[in-house]
Amino acid sequence: MQKNTQDVRQTIIDACLWMNSTGLNQGTSGNVSIRTDEGVLITPSSLPYEDMTPADVILLPGDGLSGEAIGPHRPSSEWRFHAAIYKERADIHSVVHSHSTYATAMSMLRRDIPSVHYMIGIFGGDSVRCADYAHYGSQALSDNALAALKDRTGCLLGTHGMIACGGDLKQALWRAGELEALCQQYHLACSIGEPHVLTGKQVEEVRERMETGYGVWPKA
Ligand code: 13P
Ligand code: ZN
Repeated sequence: MQKNTQDVRQTIIDACLWMNSTGLNQGTSGNVSIRTDEGVLITPSSLPYEDMTPADVILLPGDGLSGEAIGPHRPSSEWRFHAAIYKERADIHSVVHSHSTYATAMSMLRRDIPSVHYMIGIFGGDSVRCADYAHYGSQALSDNALAALKDRTGCLLGTHGMIACGGDLKQALWRAGELEALCQQYHLACSIGEPHVLTGKQVEEVRERMETGYGVWPKA
């Protein structure tokens, strides 16, 4: 497990800056966290990423669910779902939330993304679910996100955005980028016609192939 160091805190800031520079996020929307030996490190709420220093990153001690937050700012308003995901899922050590354009547009339709491309396999099943709507920062949103993430490593949040998870931050960012691309491709295909959906067997074959290693995998 990663330690609560300046370098690890800086990787969170670098991730936010990278997301904004690639268009995966904008402004101060979205948030990023990493599970560490001391608790959950998470971005502060609505602080511009360009102004952020490692000391601004907030530590939620222990499992992160006590409501205690150590740092000079309020933690991200979405600290509940970040901490809840780590508690529920031993396989996840980093969580990225963004309002990327195409994923958010799909979330406005409150639509699951079906298996219209084999890359759906990197999210753990034959769809990326869209969580029911609840207002930002709420316990209900955390509960809905957790349900949508069952056996998955990514989901949409109804009328809000997306969550991508990973064994480390690099993998979570990779999945966030792939989910945004998938939503853009799905949107384009739907604007021309009705995309084919892979069968359960076809998705299963992809999943088996990916199990031997595919894409960005965390360092052991
Ligand atoms: P925070 O700045 O509080 O993390 O909020 C951004 C966001 O995306 C809320 O859903
Ligand atoms: Zn949000």
